[in-house]
Amino acid sequence: MTATAVETAVAIRPPHNEGAMSRLFEPSEVTLEDSILGAWEALTAQGGCECPVCHGELEPGGCATCASSLS
Ligand SMILES: [Zn+2]
Repeated sequence: MTATAVETAVAIRPPHNEGAMSRLFEPSEVTLEDSILGAWEALTAQGGCECPVCHGELEPGGCATCASSLS
């Protein structure tokens, strides 16, 4: 009887791990969005800033180094 309860508890574990993993991914998405938003604000305010992707020179038309664009 006790063994069955332990097996059930072990079987429940995988979904819990998936929930913890999806929660771990959310903060990194917010951080990336925050860094892009900060770069975009500096870009519009100063006409240029550091590229959040390659740390090159980011211009209003896009990055001069890796050609990524924030538009
Ligand atoms: Zn770049």
